[in-house]
Amino acid sequence: MTSAFSRLPDDLEAIAQQGLYRSRRIMDSPQGTNLQIDGRNIVNFCSNDYLGLANHPAVLSAFKTGVDRYGAGSGSAHLICGHSAAHHALEEELAVFTGRDRALLFSTGYMANLGVIQALLGRSDAVFEDRLNHASLLDGGLLSGARFKRYAHADVENLNIQLKKASGNKLIVTDGVFSMDGDFAPLKALSLAAKAEAAWLMVDDAHGLGVIGERGGGLLDYFGLDQDDVPVLMGTLGKAFGTFGAFVAGSDALIETLIQKARTYIYTTALPSAVAEATRASLNIAAVENWRRDKLNKLAERFRLGAGQLGLKLIDISRDECLNSNEVTSAIQPIIIGDSQRAVDISNTLLKAGFLVSAIRPPTVPQGSARLRVTFSALHEEQQVERLLDALDKATGL
Ligand SMILES: *Cc1c(COP(=O)(O)O)cnc(C)c1O
Repeated sequence: MTSAFSRLPDDLEAIAQQGLYRSRRIMDSPQGTNLQIDGRNIVNFCSNDYLGLANHPAVLSAFKTGVDRYGAGSGSAHLICGHSAAHHALEEELAVFTGRDRALLFSTGYMANLGVIQALLGRSDAVFEDRLNHASLLDGGLLSGARFKRYAHADVENLNIQLKKASGNKLIVTDGVFSMDGDFAPLKALSLAAKAEAAWLMVDDAHGLGVIGERGGGLLDYFGLDQDDVPVLMGTLGKAFGTFGAFVAGSDALIETLIQKARTYIYTTALPSAVAEATRASLNIAAVENWRRDKLNKLAERFRLGAGQLGLKLIDISRDECLNSNEVTSAIQPIIIGDSQRAVDISNTLLKAGFLVSAIRPPTVPQGSARLRVTFSALHEEQQVERLLDALDKATGL
């Protein structure tokens, strides 16, 4: 008898046929704007290390000091004996940074999202998610057992219709800056809609924190939304902050509820304390060094202008609330290609020319909207952006 697994090679072949095969590249250097891949120097335009802190000397030094003080592993979950003074200090600093009562560390953003939604909702409740939410938010909603509703991207009217029909506790969940599009959720309108229906609002600002807002307070800070407006704020530490892990910030009651009930908090090992120490250093730099955000803005604006002149298809970021977006734009600037195989081919051509830009395909993005997800770092030089535009012009003309 053939085992059920004998179909795997055929399944893999089918994935390849659709241009959806995923594979890894092996990096031989720290994260940064210049990478070593296969012995070649490549300019990196796909990292989430937006502020250039993943390899910052002060962050590395705090990491090393943290290892000397706390060792390599944390030894257990936070609730057993894994919660160190470093974790605790970082939580207090994250609460101040986000202007929330308290913050709670999670080992990854994926786990934070699963844990929060599961802790807040039960079977008689309902969760409302933007169609373009990050996979971890969608999975969190599905796993929570609550009724699962998706609304059209950034469409508050569509959300309202669904909210009015639902019963039980209602949780609205959205990315802040959308991870694959780089546009902003209409957070003011979402907050008003939530209040009108006595629903909770949860925002995952993995790509806004550190990048947007005075001192990098993220999209909520930019829109002036406090804990009352957005009760649940989730952020990650592996992107703009350059380290690893995630957190949720909000009221004392929210944080205590998560400690008691979030399974992905309770049943997992605490992240290493040295990572917390490194993050304390990067948080500090992120808050005070505004030049990093200014530089990112400039690079993204330069790119948008150039890409527009070349006739490349960018994401429209001109929704009402974001009209003043010429002062602020996100570090994520995708170019929509459409066909998956063509997106991969262009990405390969760019790599040959010395640029790493990743092709993002379904199911990460909707069918027919494969794209090149171009991201910027505060450490890029304007000249590198100009060279990327030249390479894009050639690669997309093939
Ligand atoms: C990266 C990301 C996550 C997951 O965070 P990790 O710490 O990498 O697990 C969650 N939400 C969004 C929007 C993300 O971009």
